[in-house]
Amino acid sequence: MLVGITGGIGSGKTTVANLFSQFENIEVYHADDEAKKLMNTSETIRERIIEEFSDEAYLEEGLNRPFLAKIVFEQKEKLKILNNIVHPEVYKHLNEFVNFHNDKEYILYENAILFENGSHKICDKIISVSVPQDIRVERVMKRDGVSKKAVLSRIKNQWLDIKKTIQSHYLIVNMDLELVKEEVLKIHNKLT
Ligand code: ATP
Repeated sequence: MLVGITGGIGSGKTTVANLFSQFENIEVYHADDEAKKLMNTSETIRERIIEEFSDEAYLEEGLNRPFLAKIVFEQKEKLKILNNIVHPEVYKHLNEFVNFHNDKEYILYENAILFENGSHKICDKIISVSVPQDIRVERVMKRDGVSKKAVLSRIKNQWLDIKKTIQSHYLIVNMDLELVKEEVLKIHNKLT
């Protein structure tokens, strides 16, 4: 079984996914981390990115993130192109991961843009993590040392929470961590 977990920037989906990793009968797949790794290790991705964005996109030590980030920030259609290059390879990798761990009760698939990129369609169940926007902004400003304006501009590119939560099977409101831990256990028990 594939269980998607998603939420906007700073909602705490990684924190919550890490709480799930205490259960021995599941595995957690962090799509964003794996995508970052694959952009450095996959020949297919490398070739296509160079084709699309020029060979400046890679330095000797790996992906030239600032170069790509600038392009996709300024030109939204380029972000789509980049996603279309990376996501099929992440899917393949996820598939291998799921097959490798077929003894587990479920795979928790953490993806920040689960709905935005249509990945919700491959999930059997979906968990949304949500928290009021002002708290998200505060937490990200503190975590990344960035301005309020920078966080708000990242939030603007994502779907509104409500649009995701109404399409989810479970909702975790990530305020008090002790209550969240209880909620995680309840959901895990339901899923298993
Ligand atoms: P992103 O989309 O940017 O990757 P995320 O949704 O994965 O973010 P986290 O990185 O898990 O969010 O959490 C954002 C910040 O908020 C982190 O610094 C984390 O430690 C903190 N945080 C998460 N949950 C709580 C909580 N319940 N109480 C207090 N702080 C929290």
